[in-house]
Amino acid sequence: MAYQISDECISCGACAEGCPTSAISEGDGKYVIDADTCVDCGACAGTCPVGAPQAN
Ligand code: SF4
Ligand code: SF4
Repeated sequence: MAYQISDECISCGACAEGCPTSAISEGDGKYVIDADTCVDCGACAGTCPVGAPQAN
């Protein structure tokens, strides 16, 4: 299962820069993860200042 970004996201962009597969892009009001591209590495969860990326 891919990671998902919750509504806690403040659109800082830090996770997108650190994603090894460029699975994260800016969405409407928050950043979003493309489930088909995410490899479940967890880097975004470790980078996010508000804990928005969640494993599912
Ligand atoms: Fe990218 Fe890894 Fe986060 Fe998936 S878990 S979106 S591959 S940083
Ligand atoms: Fe949103 Fe966290 Fe990514 Fe920043 S690092 S864009 S707050 S999910």
